Amino acid sequence: MQKDEYRNRIAKVAKHLDSSNQDLLLVTPGADLRYLIGYDALPLERLTCLAIHRSGVTWLVVPTLERPSAVAHGIEDLDIHLVDWQETQNPYEILTKEIRSKVGKNKKILVNNLMWVEKAFKLSDALGTQVNLAEQLVAQFRSVKTQFEVNALHEAGQAIDNVHNQIHKWLRPGRTEREVGRDIANAIIESGHSRVDFVIVGSGPNGASPHHEVSDRVINVGEPVVVDIGGTMPSGYCSDSTRMYVIGKAPEEYYAKYEVLKIAQAAASKAAIAGVSCESIDATARDILQSAGLGDYFIHRTGHGIGLETHEDPYIVSGNKTVLQNGHAFSIEPGFYVAEKYGARIEDILVCSDGVAVPTNKVTRELVEL
Ligand code: ZN
Ligand code: ZN
Repeated sequence: MQKDEYRNRIAKVAKHLDSSNQDLLLVTPGADLRYLIGYDALPLERLTCLAIHRSGVTWLVVPTLERPSAVAHGIEDLDIHLVDWQETQNPYEILTKEIRSKVGKNKKILVNNLMWVEKAFKLSDALGTQVNLAEQLVAQFRSVKTQFEVNALHEAGQAIDNVHNQIHKWLRPGRTEREVGRDIANAIIESGHSRVDFVIVGSGPNGASPHHEVSDRVINVGEPVVVDIGGTMPSGYCSDSTRMYVIGKAPEEYYAKYEVLKIAQAAASKAAIAGVSCESIDATARDILQSAGLGDYFIHRTGHGIGLETHEDPYIVSGNKTVLQNGHAFSIEPGFYVAEKYGARIEDILVCSDGVAVPTNKVTRELVEL
């Protein structure tokens, strides 16, 4: 990633603060921090905090012991005042003094949405004013990916495809979901991810719970198995893909339902073109499932945005009037869930490029019979 890109992001935030008459944005470790300055700091109890003033003046407060790590991330090349604090000092007071000495008192202060409440309260106390949520301030920029980010998402898609291509090696009758999940987790790392984010192996009735992870349930012949997996690449960008498997043959009535799901997933992917609303893409998938009598079994939204976090803007859900544009990256993942019997979901990550949504996942969307 070019340093200019980070400078550009900070400048965009400062400009937005200024035009919306806000003074300061404070950001603690997490995806927003990584997006803004490329610093992948651990969210720990010691205060690390980026402060961007509407004038563009920017600080990063870090514990002294983490200063070398911040420097190694290239922070010093970004025109950021790097301020460190020793173990016995009060970082909240140090940050407040720094800000006041350069830009005076600030009344309107925003904090990133996922800042720990403890830190938000302490910052509010030290700065002597109430703080408010940044809401969409950084999210709106993060949701529109640059070419570098689009490439990173395609790379993540390939890596998770590589894992799905190997599921046949591990999914065997008599093994538990947990055993299969462990093999999958190892493969997620071996395929190039730096972190496993989640592994869902939902066999038979467990597949009817969309966010079931793994259990000690033994997988039997004839049970559809939901395999929804994802991780984070060294680039920071995430993968997330679901495919369906069965050892032998699924119950006969399952096949007709699965065909409808496949059609719904393909139709929603095709409908995702620049200029349409996110809610209309959700409606495309939902209408198809509904007209086949499966509407009541489709119990979640059609998709979510993805990038430095697995779930971020834009959400593909009824009520979201956000207009799809080039650079938006999101999942299309309709499903059906029949309690106590089985579930199904087909999930790709797509990126809107040149007006159409291009899947980053390419492995077969057929029900894979092992
Ligand atoms: Zn997803
Ligand atoms: Zn998923």
